[in-house]
Amino acid sequence: MDHEFIYEALPTRVVFGDGKLAALPAEIDKLGARRALVLSTSAQAGWAGQVAKVLGEKCVGIFSEAAMHTPVEVTGQAMQQVKDLAADCVVGLGGGSTIGLGKAIALRTGLPQIAVPTTYAGSEMTPILGQTEKGVKTTLRDALVLPKTVIYDVSLTLSLPPALSATSGLNAMAHAVEALYAQDRNPIVSLMAEEGIAALAQALPGVIADPQDRDARARAQYGAWLCGICLGSAGMALHHKLCHVLGGTFDLPHAETHAIMLPHTAAYNAPGAPEAMRRAARALKADSAAEGLWSLAGRIKAPRALKDIGMPESGIAKATELAMKNPYWNPRPLAEKDIEALIRRAWAGEAPQA
Ligand code: NAD
Repeated sequence: MDHEFIYEALPTRVVFGDGKLAALPAEIDKLGARRALVLSTSAQAGWAGQVAKVLGEKCVGIFSEAAMHTPVEVTGQAMQQVKDLAADCVVGLGGGSTIGLGKAIALRTGLPQIAVPTTYAGSEMTPILGQTEKGVKTTLRDALVLPKTVIYDVSLTLSLPPALSATSGLNAMAHAVEALYAQDRNPIVSLMAEEGIAALAQALPGVIADPQDRDARARAQYGAWLCGICLGSAGMALHHKLCHVLGGTFDLPHAETHAIMLPHTAAYNAPGAPEAMRRAARALKADSAAEGLWSLAGRIKAPRALKDIGMPESGIAKATELAMKNPYWNPRPLAEKDIEALIRRAWAGEAPQA
């Protein structure tokens, strides 16, 4: 155990349970709000309509143009609606893209937001917002963007396609793995990290085998919640840095990139963080964290090679160069040739190596 730490609980209210979307009107009342703008992606516009029905006169409008990486132009359009409709709160129903838009509005207006997550990405539990302007993504941390209330309703995850369930689940686990060895780790968040990894490792094979399995889905969502707290509470390291670089430079899909990189970054950091990796391995019921993650990724049919999701081989050198620039703190120092070898293995889909 670490003998010195700081622990600060996130002030978000969490309502968890099958069918809990029905609690939305009461949760809006609790915030003292009356005029909600409902947010979604275009793919989930139908869902936003259902939420509007649940809300009745508490809903003043729907904005269904949320997009990956929170482009500021889209935020501008949504802000216009907030103004025109005199909305006094936002409800973001969807994955990290929709929740990101809710955060961007909260940052600009101070309005309270309720997040209703439908993937396992974890954004709803963090005070972090990534925004894109003219193709450049910047990330900020501000208490204003943390949702006031989060409703986890397992029924909203049943339609998450198996492929996205697998990669989104591994994306969540990445937050917990990095929280275990974070410089600012603490015993409470480490407990959540180990439990989050264990819950997802146990649930995901069942989710993939039967996406309608409510027990497996609920366990996966519980794990994702805990992993989201990890992301919101502890500093991230090599893994998140590499995914940021790869996603930003080659426009790779978010969850898939995390899923592919995680066994490799866990292997790289194993010598620098033995205790953290012992806990991750225990949660995975594996001999090592890297081996456990690699084998889980295989079992749930997650992609294993960056070349299969659109990264060119010629990009390996560029990614290495960018990863070495302004690196995040990491438990094992970054050696350029080792990072290049790691990225090359992930590009080719080879097994992880320390
Ligand atoms: P997403 O929100 O982009 O969703 C992917 C697609 O799946 C969308 O078309 C969406 O409509 C659809 N979808 C979502 N839930 C569904 C469901 N239950 N059934 C059917 N379809 C569904 O994906 P994501 O991986 O959740 O989020 C990625 C984005 O979130 C990235 O921009 C990433 O940077 C950001 N993110 C931010 C944080 C943070 O703390 N700021 C954390 C994690 C992710």
